[in-house]
Amino acid sequence: MHPRIPSPAILRQTPSKLPEAVEAALACAREHEDLGAYLTLLEERAREQAAQVVARVNAGERLPLAGYLVAVKDNIAIKDVPLTCGSKILDHHPSVFTATAVERLERAGAVIIGKTNLDEFAMGSSTENSALKQTLHPRDISRVPGGSSGGSAVALAIGSCHAALGSETGGSVRQPAAFCGVCGLKPTYGRISRYGLVAFGSSLDQIAPFASTCEELYPVLCAMSGADPRDATSASAPVPSSQKLTEPDRKLRIGVLRDYLEHESLAPDIASASRDAIERLRSDGHELIDLHLPVLSYSIPVYYIVATAEASSNLARFDGVRYGFRHPEADELSQVYDLSRGGGFGPEVRRRIMMGTYVLSAGYYDAYYNTALKVRRVIADALLDALSRVDVILTPTTPSTAFKIGEKVDDPVAMYLSDVFTVPANLAGVPALSVPWSDDSNGLPIGLQLIGKSFEEEFLLRSGMILERLRPTT
Ligand code: GLN
Repeated sequence: MHPRIPSPAILRQTPSKLPEAVEAALACAREHEDLGAYLTLLEERAREQAAQVVARVNAGERLPLAGYLVAVKDNIAIKDVPLTCGSKILDHHPSVFTATAVERLERAGAVIIGKTNLDEFAMGSSTENSALKQTLHPRDISRVPGGSSGGSAVALAIGSCHAALGSETGGSVRQPAAFCGVCGLKPTYGRISRYGLVAFGSSLDQIAPFASTCEELYPVLCAMSGADPRDATSASAPVPSSQKLTEPDRKLRIGVLRDYLEHESLAPDIASASRDAIERLRSDGHELIDLHLPVLSYSIPVYYIVATAEASSNLARFDGVRYGFRHPEADELSQVYDLSRGGGFGPEVRRRIMMGTYVLSAGYYDAYYNTALKVRRVIADALLDALSRVDVILTPTTPSTAFKIGEKVDDPVAMYLSDVFTVPANLAGVPALSVPWSDDSNGLPIGLQLIGKSFEEEFLLRSGMILERLRPTT
């Protein structure tokens, strides 16, 4: 799909064209309304912001993101704008503050176009768990765009923005990026403030950007990065400097996870795309090193214990008392809780809260939750040890390309396995990138994943540029 709006680089040279670009972006979003990417279009707000950016540039301010139109997942807060999390329980409750990441983007000159659809509270891999609308795959409307940040991936793929924010707990940006043929980066845990991101699994959650290329993604990451007094888990590691991104000036040592290439769930077209990538990287002079990390096979069970435990605690605040949906028939306190939560949350969120409550309950805490924390550490150590021996690790991003709508909704375990290759980076806290590589025999995008060392996103994106150069031309 061709971009409908001039690239950020062109807009930067001609900032006076920004208001026209905003109109083009809004028109594109409306033209593709049937794909269900957006929940709210911020038309007036975007127009005002564009005018302000033009004025700031004319006054001589140097704005690294001038020219960037950005869509934001609807679990990230923007003051006075509804924050739905794709759920009925929040009932279009307007946010009373703006997330640090969004504040920083706007300070750097970005214009926010709208809020995008997601799986309810970011729980899912297909955006089918949104209680508000269905988002469709931009190349085949009988398929899902991936999830949970499916709306943001589609908003970018149709060309209605230059970058989009999603959130990652277990793969929710890389997986839809791979499905929709765009780049998605999960930063190191702590790289970007979580202030204003509605919590799902707090030890895993990160705001994460999408863009069409690594080069366009990099300034967005730079603008959002850095310590924030409002998020105690944000890291004070030096923020990457926003200069032009170039490929590394040396050949790389690239780890190849053999276990994943031979994984039983890996689609044959993705296996051959991965082998092709390995061959092309080798011919380009890089050293490919086989890795065998069998402990990673525990990642999905560990993730679904840790993430649901944290979710059950985080989602306790949605109780029908303070804000959002309150069931009209509730007339005493326990009914306010029961009916509002029972009627406000969708089935997948209720399942996660129940699983999380179960693994944290007195009799099972040690058997499940504590054990999962120990295995998480072993998985993280294995990945960090492997990363100490190579520059980056290459894997497929997903076991399959975009699947059919409805195909996995009745089989939660099959849905959970969509994250089999993405979850380890979340458990270990390290950054990971999905780059589009080729198409499968149905014409659906295949993404490859590069996993990097903590706080080395810049190097990871520079490495991603190698894949972008080597990928087969279509
Ligand atoms: N698909 C995973 C889940 O359902 C990951 C979600 C995410 O990263 N937010 O939990």
